[in-house]
Amino acid sequence: MRDVFVIGGGINGCGIARDAAGRGYSVYLAEMNDLASGTSSFSTKLIHGGLRYLEYYEFRLVRESLMEREVLWRSAPHIIWPMRFVLPYHKGGPRPAWLVRIGLFLYDHIGGRRLLPPTRTLDMRSDPAGKPLKPIFTKAFEYSDGWVNDARLVVLNARDAADRGATIRTRAKVVSARREDGAWTVGVEDLRTGAVEQVRARLLVNAAGPWVDHVLAEAIGQNDVHNVRLVQGSHIVVRKKFDDPRAYFFQNNDGRIIFAIPYEDDFTLIGTTDRDYPGDPHEAKISDAETRYLCEAASEYFSVPVTPQDIVWTYSGVRPLYDDGASKAQEATRDYVLKAEHPDGEAPVINIFGGKITTYRRLSEHMLEKIEHFLGRKGKPWTAAAQLPGGDFPATGFDAQAAKLKAQYPFLDVGLARRLTRLYGTRAATLLGLAKSQADLGRTFGPDLYEAEVRYLIDHEWALTADDVLWRRTKRGLTVSAVEAAALEEYMKGHLSSLQNAAAE
Ligand SMILES: Cc1cc2nc3c(=O)[nH]c(=O)nc-3n(C[C@H](O)[C@H](O)[C@H](O)COP(=O)(O)OP(=O)(O)OC[C@H]3O[C@@H](n4cnc5c(N)ncnc54)[C@H](O)[C@@H]3O)c2cc1C
Repeated sequence: MRDVFVIGGGINGCGIARDAAGRGYSVYLAEMNDLASGTSSFSTKLIHGGLRYLEYYEFRLVRESLMEREVLWRSAPHIIWPMRFVLPYHKGGPRPAWLVRIGLFLYDHIGGRRLLPPTRTLDMRSDPAGKPLKPIFTKAFEYSDGWVNDARLVVLNARDAADRGATIRTRAKVVSARREDGAWTVGVEDLRTGAVEQVRARLLVNAAGPWVDHVLAEAIGQNDVHNVRLVQGSHIVVRKKFDDPRAYFFQNNDGRIIFAIPYEDDFTLIGTTDRDYPGDPHEAKISDAETRYLCEAASEYFSVPVTPQDIVWTYSGVRPLYDDGASKAQEATRDYVLKAEHPDGEAPVINIFGGKITTYRRLSEHMLEKIEHFLGRKGKPWTAAAQLPGGDFPATGFDAQAAKLKAQYPFLDVGLARRLTRLYGTRAATLLGLAKSQADLGRTFGPDLYEAEVRYLIDHEWALTADDVLWRRTKRGLTVSAVEAAALEEYMKGHLSSLQNAAAE
């Protein structure tokens, strides 16, 4: 019998599994697809307070999020790093400068900022940030927030949970959950074989993100559930629009905002949109109207317009927002709500509605308070001071860490040493093992993607398909060709079946 069964391998499910396993609970997590295949790999990838949420008086959320920026950066300095944001303004813009200044003052002062530099004002006529923009933008504020590789944050939480004893299953869908003899019996279908396993657990955590109501209705059999409001957000990725390492925060005439962010060395990420979404979250795709909206909004600022022809990739995710009855999608609360149900003292289920990547660690701590209430206390809160796998180097030590890897493996070119350090931190050395030359890394599947990395992802990070490797564990999908992706798929199939055969012998 497990203590805790977690449904969903997004950031919240994996964060909770890690925290619970680290406190000594026995944990089983089932993810129906790949880790981070839901909303958690489709975010804007910001560890941020959410300047915009101040307009909706979300002070609790903004403060908690601001406080998390440096905590998370220290826990995973390979995949999380500080970023400066340039917010241009001009007379007659959507918000007066004094209002933005008050927001940024709060931002600088309520969030426990220690390492991140404060806000400053820029003269865009002389600052390089002004160069790619239209000359009307002569002034800007520059402030701090953080960047995160969202999909890797999920997988590193899962890795840490497993290292601390949790069972993590992917392609494992929860198809039923019933209360029996004071505990849950959960039916978990292996989507590759069709086999259904029954797992017993004392408490159920429903971290199914946009599918949270679906799990309540279909697996648990509740009627009439309407807790979340599904709000689609889309992004476009275009060839690099500017060389500056800073990101832009653009205010649109409709009162919304979008970001333009340096992305994967050669690209610019632009997003996002907000629109209510009625369909299956896995099917969300950018619409023509969203593409037009993002191109037009960015072109209000960049002197060279962004056009649909510039787009190399798009992605869309669905926010599982707690339905607080707000009239517009952009106004619905971004805060999270945890609700426990245990009718007549029966086995509890705790549902998660809403939440941000930024707040996943605090959400997990709040969830653990609820779990303790039902199962009794085990360990203390521990994640604030702990590092995620590969993150055991100083927060400001990324360059030194990449140089160390390059010195240890002199045959790596600088770009590859930095890329591997960005993804795997100190665990890049596990991936490279005893390699003495490029040839020891095996065959390649497109620029820079070697067999050694693919094997590492299969052995340590639950990668099962080419998409898992190309779009979630890495973003090599942006650079490999269709032929290379097919060769990778073929290779992975062969490698996985030889592993299965070896295990069966
Ligand atoms: C466009 C957009 C931009 C965003 N930008 C940011 C940002 O910049 N910063 C930030 O902090 N947050 C951001 N967010 C919010 C953040 O991405 C989400 O709040 C977060 O990823 C939700 O994580 P989750 O674990 O709750 O859900 P998910 O990541 O969706 O995980 C739920 C998982 O449950 C699985 N599942 C569902 N049903 C079952 C079942 N029956 N059995 C097994 N598994 C199941 C799904 O496959 C899925 O993987 C953004 C969101 C969107 C959409």
